[in-house]
Amino acid sequence: MQYEGVLTKMQTEAGSPIQYYLVFENSFLNVNQLLGKDIEINFMGFYCLNCSKKKKIYRQGFCYDCFYSSASAGDWIMRPELSTAHLGIADRDLEYEQKVQLQPHIVYLAASSDMKVGVTRKTQMPTRWIDQGASWATPLVEVPNRYLAGITEVAFKNHFSDKINWKKMLLNEIVPIDLLAKRNEVKDLLPDEVKPYFDTTIEKLYVLEYPVLEYPKKIGKSLNLTTTPIYNGKLMGIKGQYLIFEDGTVFNVRSYEGFAVQINV
Ligand SMILES: [Zn+2]
Repeated sequence: MQYEGVLTKMQTEAGSPIQYYLVFENSFLNVNQLLGKDIEINFMGFYCLNCSKKKKIYRQGFCYDCFYSSASAGDWIMRPELSTAHLGIADRDLEYEQKVQLQPHIVYLAASSDMKVGVTRKTQMPTRWIDQGASWATPLVEVPNRYLAGITEVAFKNHFSDKINWKKMLLNEIVPIDLLAKRNEVKDLLPDEVKPYFDTTIEKLYVLEYPVLEYPKKIGKSLNLTTTPIYNGKLMGIKGQYLIFEDGTVFNVRSYEGFAVQINV
């Protein structure tokens, strides 16, 4: 079978295990069904997800010009504390920013390797945790906009990581942490503006199960489609947005958004 299309991050469906899909323009592929099979990935060319031009991808599936002009690639995406839509102040496009920023956001605790704190829109829960390869996650506090979530994350930065050790995540080396106990321990660190929302946030632990036949003993190369346009390997697992192959190679699908590929199974 041959599939062809432009990569975007894998779509997921909660379940035991989680289901992963590659969605192309005219077809889709349930990646779980490729487990244990040899697959070939061929890099065909670039396709900017914003302007649809065949320009080199810079970041997040966008060409350089789109990354620095599109409203959906503003600094407040990666740094929620820079959000200003709640003040009526535009970064690139106020209407778009109001739509995205002025909606319920979750600050969460998750364990992908060590415990980390992060921010997501409520509608992206549990998708966000799956994309990060978290084994467990719990909402810490639900707030009405992105700014409040951002300042909460900043308040926690001195105490907890906001990064993921992706190698440990892919090796499934997870520090055992009681996230619900931590949740109660850390509530005093919440900024004063955010404290009132803690008690109204539902306490729940999410456990995520990934489709992995066997975790690697060690992580080899991270596949780079620019320098290795053709790759062949046996798929052993899917975790986060990564494909894990038998030879230890891992492929971060999300890093290759906007890359047109052919996949042969
Ligand atoms: Zn573009």
